[in-house]
This record gives sequence, structure tokens and C-alpha cells, in this order.
Amino acid sequence: MYDVIVVGMGPAGSMAAHGLAKNGFKVLAIDKDRFPRYKSCGGCISTKVDKILDFDISEVVDDTVMGIDFNFKSARPVTVPSDKPIAYNVMRSTFDAFLAARAVAEGVEFKEGVRVRGCVDTGAHVELDTDCGPIKARYVIGADGAGGIIGRSLLGLNYRNCHISLTSEISVDDATLEAYRGKCLVDFGVIPHGYAWVFPKKDGLSVGIAGMADKLERGVKDYFRDFVKEQDALDGVCLGDGDIRGWTIPVYNGGEQKVYSGRVIVTGDAAHLVDPFLGEGIYYAIRSGQIAADAVGAALGKGGEADLASYKEMLSSELYPEFEACSMLVKIIYGYPRMWYRVVEMDPSIMQKYYDVLTGDESGALFIKDLKSRVVKKPWKVLSKWLRGSA
Ligand SMILES: Cc1cc2nc3c(=O)[nH]c(=O)nc-3n(C[C@H](O)[C@H](O)[C@H](O)COP(=O)(O)OP(=O)(O)OC[C@H]3O[C@@H](n4cnc5c(N)ncnc54)[C@H](O)[C@@H]3O)c2cc1C
Repeated sequence: MYDVIVVGMGPAGSMAAHGLAKNGFKVLAIDKDRFPRYKSCGGCISTKVDKILDFDISEVVDDTVMGIDFNFKSARPVTVPSDKPIAYNVMRSTFDAFLAARAVAEGVEFKEGVRVRGCVDTGAHVELDTDCGPIKARYVIGADGAGGIIGRSLLGLNYRNCHISLTSEISVDDATLEAYRGKCLVDFGVIPHGYAWVFPKKDGLSVGIAGMADKLERGVKDYFRDFVKEQDALDGVCLGDGDIRGWTIPVYNGGEQKVYSGRVIVTGDAAHLVDPFLGEGIYYAIRSGQIAADAVGAALGKGGEADLASYKEMLSSELYPEFEACSMLVKIIYGYPRMWYRVVEMDPSIMQKYYDVLTGDESGALFIKDLKSRVVKKPWKVLSKWLRGSA
């Protein structure tokens, strides 16, 4: 019997498996796909990831972000530069294969192309029904993403609070790609409660859009096609339905749902651990995978008793407060996107302060406190400029 089976080898699963194997546990990882596999994703990871990884990821970074072009309804981007790297752009196929290889190098046994179809927790162990028959372990970590079978079958999760998101990988000429190098473009006005983006990669641009499912007035593809049409750099690009890939993003929903039960933990997207403002999930998948590994490792160390409460405690003290701060940004920025664009236009340093959150040098909560005091200091200036812009 395995000590732990990790279901899903995205960033959450790879890092959970990596942490457990490093501590000497017998770990099996299972993924329904063979790696490298395409994953629909913008692939933009804030550089705070450097603070939690004990290895270098530079070999799989396509572009380092040193500033953001902010826009509202594809009008006129406001460029806000940064004096330090704030994010990395990666292709998920190479990034995820790289993380999985790190886990295998620590001794994880990895079964690729095997789907988990069901899961039973007997109290003494967990039994998985898989494409290659039943497999048992003392503990199971469900890192099987949004709508994953482990959360649905053992924790009663229904993955209702989600953003809908689409991406397309678009080839452009070298000059166009060069013009985007080192920065991201984000537009907060093109979709209700969400944004559209252009992220440069090594061989092209990842263009995408995400919005809160229940706020959309049209199909998400319609918003996406309109955004693409408005980008000068994408003039002449014609996207067929097969060029646009999407999935749901299970954003933080207040931390109410179960994240463990008996001998099972869910982590990453499977546990709704995605920032509700930017839809950033890769960092939180990695970090929650590490926390899950610590919690399961501690339970195994105590003689196999099922006590995973420390997992929820760690999420509540470390990740949920960041998500709460992001929820405030959702209210401010998605509630009043035009006003926010004006605020950044007038005072780009507000956004530069947010860069400290992306680098992990500042907490989201402190940023919100600072933001409130700065905006409240000049409400009339902001309001009058906003009204002029709305006229
Ligand atoms: C369009 C889009 C754009 C995004 N852009 C960004 C971005 O720019 N930056 C960012 O930080 N986040 C972004 N996200 C969110 C990010 O992709 C996720 O938060 C992240 O992938 C979560 O990692 P994970 O390991 O929890 O799950 P996943 O990466 O989804 O991995 C889950 C794994 O489980 C496997 N699996 C599922 N079911 C089974 C099964 N039954 N049996 C075996 N294996 C199974 C899957 O094959 C997969 O490999 C985006 C999401 C979408 C949809």
C-alpha cells in the first residue's frame, strides 16, 4: 500500500507529491493525461513564487514581466512600469512537465494517462478505482482541478462559484512579439466582473478573457472575439472555435467549503484556492500543495492517524486573508472599472504599490488599507475626472 496517492499532477499535485517524497514517504501520482499536456491558462505567475520554491524555474520561464499596460475597453493603455520583476509568463505544458519531473526526481512513482474514476475512504485507508484497477493508500490528495472527482465524491463539493475563462495561443511576427516583451496588457472594461489579457510567450501571445459566470450578459466567446478585434497587434487574426480553449476557474468562495475529510485532502483548484480578483491560481496551487504535503506528512508521522485539521488551519491563516483582500479589489475594481482606470492614469504609483503584493513584499491586506487612504484623500479629483471620462 502507498503512503499517499496524489490525483492530478498540475502544480498543486506535483508540489504535494514532491514534498512528501522528499520526506521519505511512498508516493504514487496519477494523471489522466500524458505529459507534457496542454492546459488552458494565461500562464502568468507572480514572482512571489520565488519565495516558496526551493529550486529555480528560470529554464521554463518564457518572459519576465517588468510592467503592466492597463486599459479600459481597449481605449488607450496606461503603462505602469516596475523596477523589479513582478511576474513570469510560462507555457503550462512545459511548466507543469518541469514540476512533475522534479517530483519524479524525488522518488514519486508517476502513472500518466490513467484516470481515477471513483474513491472510497474506508476509515483505515482510501481505495481508488482507476483505469488500471483498484489502488490503495493511507491518504489521498485530490489535486485534480476544478470539478475534480475527489472533491465531488468525498467532500460533496459542487464547484458552483466559478469564473469562465478562455485562452488562445496566437502566432505573431517577431516585431509584434517584441513590442509586448517584458509586460502584460490587461483590460478591465471588456467583460463584466473580469478582464481580458495579452501575455507574451516565447513563440507567440497568449490572449485570454475571464469573467464571473453569473454576471455575463452574452456568451464569453463573444466578449473574447470583440476584444481580439480591438487589438491593433492582432489585426487580421481570425480565430476558429478550435483555436479557443477554456475552462472554469473556481475562485475563493469564502473558505466555507470542506477541504479535507477523513483521509482525504483537496488542494489547488479542487479546493477553490484561486484569487477572485486576477484569477491567479498557479501560485496558490503550488503553495497549497506544499501545505497539504506538510499536513499529510505530519499525520503519517503520528502513526497514520487521520488528523488533517492543520491543513485547514494553515489555509485560514496564510491563504484566505490574501483572498479576502482580493475580494475587496473585486468590489472596487470590477464594480467601478472606468473609475479605477482613471485613478491609475492619474496616479500610477497606486498600481506600483500593488506590484509589491505580486512580488510578495507586501500583504494584500496592507495594500487595501493603503489604497483606501490614498483614494479617500482625493475623491473629488478622481470623481470629476471619472465623470468627464463617462460623458
Ligand atoms: C483560461 C484560464 C486562464 C488562466 N490563467 C491563469 C494565469 O495566467 N495565472 C494563474 O496563476 N492562474 C491562471 N488560471 C488558473 C490556473 O490555471 C489554475 O488555478 C491552476 O492550473 C490550478 O492548478 P491545479 O494543480 O490545482 O489544477 P490543474 O492545473 O487543473 O491540474 C489538475 C490535473 O488533474 C488531472 N486530473 C483531473 N481529473 C483527473 C482524474 N479523474 N484522474 C486523473 N487525473 C485527473 C488533470 O489532467 C490535470 O493535470 C487560469 C485558468 C484558466 C481556465
